[in-house]
Amino acid sequence: MPERFSDSLQQKISDRLRFYEDIGIGDFYRNRMGGVLQNESQVTSGAQELTPRIEEPSLPKRELKPALPAPVAPAQARKFELPQVDTGPSLFETASKIENDTLLKIREDLGDCKRCKLHKARHTIVFGDGNPKAQLVFVGEGPGADEDAQGLPFVGRAGKLLTQMIEAMGLQRKDVYICNVVKCRPPQNRQPERDEVAECSPFLFRQIDTIAPKVIVCLGSTAAQTILQTNRGISHFRGEWLEFRGRKLIVTYHPAYLLRNPAAKSEVWKDLQKVMAELGLTVKRGKTT
Ligand code: URA
Repeated sequence: MPERFSDSLQQKISDRLRFYEDIGIGDFYRNRMGGVLQNESQVTSGAQELTPRIEEPSLPKRELKPALPAPVAPAQARKFELPQVDTGPSLFETASKIENDTLLKIREDLGDCKRCKLHKARHTIVFGDGNPKAQLVFVGEGPGADEDAQGLPFVGRAGKLLTQMIEAMGLQRKDVYICNVVKCRPPQNRQPERDEVAECSPFLFRQIDTIAPKVIVCLGSTAAQTILQTNRGISHFRGEWLEFRGRKLIVTYHPAYLLRNPAAKSEVWKDLQKVMAELGLTVKRGKTT
């Protein structure tokens, strides 16, 4: 009698399959090397049976599965032209590079921050999480209720989707670094205001400088507009390679937007494939039986 997976594993498999369906992947193949999924960690750590096979040179190797379109070739980044729209005084002025900076030092400098009004209602400062030497940094907008409660970025519903996206790339959350433009939850999850972004973004820029990733992925317009210093809408640059202080940057939709508009997941998947190509995460085609 075959043993039924646990309820939580069933849920994870079903979420993962729904995610692949949303991004247009419908073919799955048996892994020649291994049998079936045996435990929850195989799903949470990369779902060998359910994801593409990926080889990467410098990040930890994963064995993942289904057929995917051919990888997108690494592209030239274009320098983002500064917008026509005046965004006020430059945030970059407060964000020059600091010698020998570390995440620990940045966190210490942030302290029990009361620089802006967001501190009044927050429970926890959500500094950021992941590999301090990550090649890939995701930047979101600001913590929501779950993040505020746990002190970790992207752990709520949108966070679960982000985790699925990362795993679909053949990575785990611990391989990448995840942070936000503002480190305290805006009340009622409203967009962070300009003065709040101005106070908090120097810490974000220091985090990016210190981690020195190869690629930055801005999740949604707040992250993009903050880093690129523009008021332009996300449609002007989503999915295009841009440059930020000598690093490649790409903007894609925020996972919270995808929860409301699942049809946009396939666009995000295209953007993430560009990132995979840039990081040398090549998709091996060909069926395994
Ligand atoms: N949305 C964000 O932008 N960041 C989080 O950490 C969670 C949700």
